Amino acid sequence: MNLWKNKKALLLAGVLLACFATPVKAKHGVAIPVLNYHSIGVTPGNTYVLHPDTFTRQMDYLAAHHYTPLTLDEFASVLSHKMPSPAHPVLLTFDDGYANNVEVALPILQKHKFPATLYLSTGLVNTPGYLTWPQIHELSAAGWDIASHTVTHPHLPKLSKKAQREEILAARAKIEQELGKPANTFAYPYGDYNRKTLRILKKAHFSYAFTTHSGWASSDQPPLELHRIVVDSQKPFEEWVQQLTEDTSK
Ligand SMILES: [Zn+2]
Repeated sequence: MNLWKNKKALLLAGVLLACFATPVKAKHGVAIPVLNYHSIGVTPGNTYVLHPDTFTRQMDYLAAHHYTPLTLDEFASVLSHKMPSPAHPVLLTFDDGYANNVEVALPILQKHKFPATLYLSTGLVNTPGYLTWPQIHELSAAGWDIASHTVTHPHLPKLSKKAQREEILAARAKIEQELGKPANTFAYPYGDYNRKTLRILKKAHFSYAFTTHSGWASSDQPPLELHRIVVDSQKPFEEWVQQLTEDTSK
């Protein structure tokens, strides 16, 4: 009887622990889900175009479940153990630089006072469907971090080392010149990179770079090969919740 009681107590303690434990511990360090968005708009069937209603629902979910979207500085500080992690950290990233990031995503994020990070391909700026520099200034003024996603969005491993360096560094220089802030993180177009790419980023003192390897980013991963969760507009909402809440970095 007593044994059964103990078993029940143990079981209850286990359930309570599972409910209240904060899921930010990786094997040895910290893990943070990094959500990767692209275009927020209405193009049925395109995995990279997320309907504004779904985006609204996802941001409402983060707010209702007490998530803290981080700035890039906060993300770096938490991942390098310089700052304690909030209970439910998350980093919101947008790739490429679609005009709807300012027209559609920004007002939804502002409603919750959520910051975000834009990985911008500078060669796409001012082309149809993409952001203009005044719009990028608007995002920056609203608290977004803007960082490099190359100039022309190439498959980097197909380029020579010299061409890769030019793509990576020219985009960073343009962003830093426009906004007057350091842009020393990076996201690989198509998630593609090779050893040359890593060497260029290291030599140019980039602190972090994001791949499209799926899962939470973690301090156990190489800083230039952090994982992200690419948000697929065709997947059910429950799957998004699962990717957000289950640390797959272990
Ligand atoms: Zn991209």
